[in-house]
Amino acid sequence: MGSFSLLSAVARRLEGKVALITGGASGIGEATARLFCQHGAKVVIADIQKDLAHSVCKDIGPTSASFVHCNVTDEPHIENAINTTVAKYGKLDIMFNNAGIVESAKSDILENDKAEFERVMGVNVTGAFLGTKHAARVMIPARSGSIITTASVCSINGGGATHSYTCSKHAVVGLTKNTAVELGRFGIRVNCVSPYLVATPLVKNFFNIDDDEAASVYSNLKGVVLKPEYVAEAVLYLGSDDSMYVSGHNLVVDGGYTIVNPAFC
Ligand code: NAD
Repeated sequence: MGSFSLLSAVARRLEGKVALITGGASGIGEATARLFCQHGAKVVIADIQKDLAHSVCKDIGPTSASFVHCNVTDEPHIENAINTTVAKYGKLDIMFNNAGIVESAKSDILENDKAEFERVMGVNVTGAFLGTKHAARVMIPARSGSIITTASVCSINGGGATHSYTCSKHAVVGLTKNTAVELGRFGIRVNCVSPYLVATPLVKNFFNIDDDEAASVYSNLKGVVLKPEYVAEAVLYLGSDDSMYVSGHNLVVDGGYTIVNPAFC
């Protein structure tokens, strides 16, 4: 191998890997799908937004990315997404439980609606649980794998988001820690990534702001706005062999925000 091709192989950190990304049609999931494919992975996007997911896959390139319709709250859907990935590519190396929602409006505990609470917990927690469970089903016999769930800085403290959202993000850290202990003996690593505010449709809809307003609200580190691409870099680290001894960890991507503003979340 010449020096150029050796460099290319080193630079492509997911060569030969297969990943399933829930919520991969938009925001953090989409940015991660794009980055993973740039690094040589084959990616299956599991999402409820069919048209958007198809256009992301088309843009990335059909040999690298494909779509499976999947509502993460529905166990047969998750099973089908995992089985489709394995049938298409022969294995599953990285499971990224990223699909998530937030309540339509912030409300105090007396106004909180039970159905809305359960809806958020269903996608954010049950979805991550089902993704973890069925990824483990195929990763245990393979004796390897990396499972990553998108938590949030709202997994650390309280008061920055809705009750359901904060509860759900604390819960997935618990899921991650428990599963990391259980699956470590099979060579499977389980971690979370916890971003600060990223200007994706999820938060722009919640705060009812546009891109310009998002830029002024969200900048932290020397005025740098946290972009989905920066979160994707952290997910790439957790998914790749670069983090081969990192498990049960909640990797915060916030430019240091929650250290100086703990009350935010
Ligand atoms: P987004 O709205 O851009 O993307 C979320 C994706 O999840 C969408 O493609 C949506 O269709 C999909 N999805 C929603 N419900 C689903 C379901 N039931 N089944 C399958 N797919 C479903 O939002 P985002 O900001 O990229 O959010 C991604 C993750 O990041 C979420 O878990 C969110 O809680 C978390 N997060 C976001 C921020 C932020 O500031 N944007 C910060 C911290 C954590």
